[in-house]
Amino acid sequence: MNENRLKILKDGEKKTGPVVYWMQRDQRANDNWALIYAQSKACEMNVDLRVVFNLVPEFLEATVRQYEFMIKGLEEVEQHLNRFNIPFNLFLGEPEQNLPRFLEKIHASLLVVDFNPLKIARFWKKKVADKIQIPIHEVDTHNIVPCKYVSDKIEYAAYTIRPKIKRNLDEFLDEIPPLLTMENNPNLEKVDWEKARNSLKINFSVPEVDWLIPGESTAKSILEKFINQKLESYNQHRNDPNLNALSNLSPYFHFGQISPQRVALAVSSVNNFPESKDAFLEELIVRRELSDNFCYYNSKYDSFEGFHDWAKKTLNEHREDKREFIYRLEQFENAETHDGLWNAAQIEVIKKGKMHGFMRMYWAKKILEWTESPEQALEFALYLNDKYQLDGRDPNGYVGVAWSIGGVHDRAWTERPVFGKIRFMNYNGCKRKFDIKSYILNNQK
Ligand SMILES: Cc1cc2nc3c(=O)[nH]c(=O)nc-3n(C[C@H](O)[C@H](O)[C@H](O)COP(=O)(O)OP(=O)(O)OC[C@H]3O[C@@H](n4cnc5c(N)ncnc54)[C@H](O)[C@@H]3O)c2cc1C
Repeated sequence: MNENRLKILKDGEKKTGPVVYWMQRDQRANDNWALIYAQSKACEMNVDLRVVFNLVPEFLEATVRQYEFMIKGLEEVEQHLNRFNIPFNLFLGEPEQNLPRFLEKIHASLLVVDFNPLKIARFWKKKVADKIQIPIHEVDTHNIVPCKYVSDKIEYAAYTIRPKIKRNLDEFLDEIPPLLTMENNPNLEKVDWEKARNSLKINFSVPEVDWLIPGESTAKSILEKFINQKLESYNQHRNDPNLNALSNLSPYFHFGQISPQRVALAVSSVNNFPESKDAFLEELIVRRELSDNFCYYNSKYDSFEGFHDWAKKTLNEHREDKREFIYRLEQFENAETHDGLWNAAQIEVIKKGKMHGFMRMYWAKKILEWTESPEQALEFALYLNDKYQLDGRDPNGYVGVAWSIGGVHDRAWTERPVFGKIRFMNYNGCKRKFDIKSYILNNQK
């Protein structure tokens, strides 16, 4: 593994027990640098390797829709790991209690963690770190060019991070080695998944979706299908919400069920469709990694305060502008606005758990237009995004909403009411781009 993926979060006492990989963001057995690193350390020290996951009873706005997607993916992780003689433990409750207790009990020698720029994950790591004495090593296995390596500051926009990523891409976009079978055949205790499900204190009213099957194996077949059937026309069709032209990989990336690096390697190796390849790799690498950069270097990524100064200024100047429509959260949530196109987008996410990427921009910008303040718009958009999207609670989500409402990574546009200099989108603009009537017809209550 390229050692620039690694950060020593904490030095510590030398012990002789197993190496433990605390899997958090990257929930997969294959193509996972954090796991590969943990395994190499275990082999080097001639000790066992354990993988643990801590399931909290509730998490931000996640409902049974997102929890089941994750749990089913984790069931597959357990099966894959067991085939390599690697035990998988699932803890229920709070990580800062479970992890230190477990590490102490097995006299663990090293804790390996994956990288996550979001506040809650960093808070958990810090809490655990404060309670343990062994070293903690962090491996960035979510970004192709590691977030902390590519830049040591918040990047202004795609054009500032792009050259930094491109300069380092050859070095980091390398082949990922397979996992090795551990020689020892430890006691592979089975996880009690029913008990795990019964421990949840989440909202059960948002149903699971059946058109996307969770897990590493399905993610791989979706990637194959994308390359064989959709890549050719990705560039031409990606902004048409009536066409199923996108990869649909975002839920799998969000839960770490497929490696972005594996996807980039597969798409890069296609000897055709250069424009589509470039467009897809721009989203997958530059835009996605820019989101991690924003959230890592800006702890206010989910608030008005996190916007650029020019955006705060212009939104402040237009605070008192008269809004033509103002809706309550329930009206947005129930798709009860005057705008059939907006309602269709909301119905799409309620039913499918994934709104088309183009509609996400329109959807969030209209929330800014039809609420009392930018703060309220941000609150409503994040609440709905995180509650219904399978890929919600992700750096891409925080940045997508902040781009739409707060001009993050964008530039100033012609000034207009409510929006100020934030880029505006309207119904007629959409009408010129795609068949609005079909989209509304396909997304009915
Ligand atoms: C208001 C708003 C909210 C959003 N919320 C989320 C969210 O909660 N979770 C999420 O993952 N994405 C979010 N996005 C970004 C983007 O819309 C989705 O990543 C994309 O639609 C996912 O579908 P796909 O995987 O089929 O896309 P594809 O077009 O097939 O793209 C492949 C991958 O590239 C990355 N990507 C694509 N578009 C973007 C983008 N604009 N910014 C950063 N990365 C991108 C994603 O990782 C995506 O999975 C949001 C965008 C906006 C404007």
